[in-house]
Amino acid sequence: MSEARKILLVEDNLHNRRIFAGVLKHYGFEVHEAENGQQAVDRIAEGETFDLILMDLSLPVVDGWEATRRIKAMPSAAEVPIIALTAHAMAGDADRALEAGCDHYLSKPISPKKVVAEVQRVLGLEQTD
Ligand code: MN
Repeated sequence: MSEARKILLVEDNLHNRRIFAGVLKHYGFEVHEAENGQQAVDRIAEGETFDLILMDLSLPVVDGWEATRRIKAMPSAAEVPIIALTAHAMAGDADRALEAGCDHYLSKPISPKKVVAEVQRVLGLEQTD
């Protein structure tokens, strides 16, 4: 790709963050990391722009549902696709994520390659495997 797509990865679990960020970078994405929903909201409110946001839902300070609502309320970010990362055991999480404004969701546990494939699909990029 000519210009790296910019991803904001919002995930409080360091292990998951390292894995997802690593694989996305490997596939050519520019990855920025936030550890909680407040950090994500602040970065966008301060004017940063992203092509896509990966949003864990269970987050400290401001959770993923609330962060999504706040981000989608900002004109600069309203059209940015948000993929929720939901806990598999929590059946209602995905529905609540869509209600909050998330565009898509992936249920944990998620393989790193599945994250890449979904990001590529949502951005309309050629799928790699
Ligand atoms: Mn979490």
